[in-house]
Amino acid sequence: MKVFSVTGLTATGKTTTIEQIIKELKERGYSVGTVKEIHYDAFRIDTPGKNTYRHREAGADTVTARAHHETDIMYKGHMPIYDILKRYSEDYIILEGVRDAIVPEIALCKEDEQPELMPLTFAVSGVYANNHCGTYLGLPVINAQTDIKALVDLIIKKVPPLFYDIDPACCSKCGYDCRGLLAAILRGEKSYSDCVLSSNIVSLKINGKDIVMVPFVQNLLNNVILGVVSELNGYEKDGQIDITIKNNE
Ligand code: SF4
Repeated sequence: MKVFSVTGLTATGKTTTIEQIIKELKERGYSVGTVKEIHYDAFRIDTPGKNTYRHREAGADTVTARAHHETDIMYKGHMPIYDILKRYSEDYIILEGVRDAIVPEIALCKEDEQPELMPLTFAVSGVYANNHCGTYLGLPVINAQTDIKALVDLIIKKVPPLFYDIDPACCSKCGYDCRGLLAAILRGEKSYSDCVLSSNIVSLKINGKDIVMVPFVQNLLNNVILGVVSELNGYEKDGQIDITIKNNE
């Protein structure tokens, strides 16, 4: 799964840019998901008086409105972005206005403003690109309305699989923290294979959801499991081992 964010203040063209990117990615055969950050404190999709609202008020933690044309699953509170992303399985996820994930960013601003470049910014677009083209401080400026193919080519080239926000105390095997390595990848100085998690030796799912493990935990599980199963008939060196645990405690 590859994730990137389109960032910028109001009226900088975020939604229009995202619409164009979605259409082009779909045209190329990719599945696409989106997450929109809403900065309006009072926002809620459910409204007082609706049956689903009454379910929530009665104490339900998760409420789903299932209808013919859509299914809306509503969770409580402001969910961490990585918990949200665990629920997605599309090829590309586009975040609109989300700033707390370690993902590449496309910066947008108005025509008469200066783009706010961050270490993870890899392109400039939106309203600013209507009358500016070429580069801004070394980053490509691309008009999503007139040159969407170039913008999506760049996204496909630049955006690596999702990075997690691993505590540097648990892993700094690449010589950076996760944000630092992604910034170096976007500058073309490193590659995704420099992250030890790019070649997991152990993968774990709990209730069908992938669980990210730092190398120390992967090695621990690897050693414990190999220590046991290597004594069993049927064990083959360098083979793949699948274990399913039904935890009924
Ligand atoms: S090796 Fe990967 S998980 Fe570890 S700090 Fe670097 S980017 Fe993060």
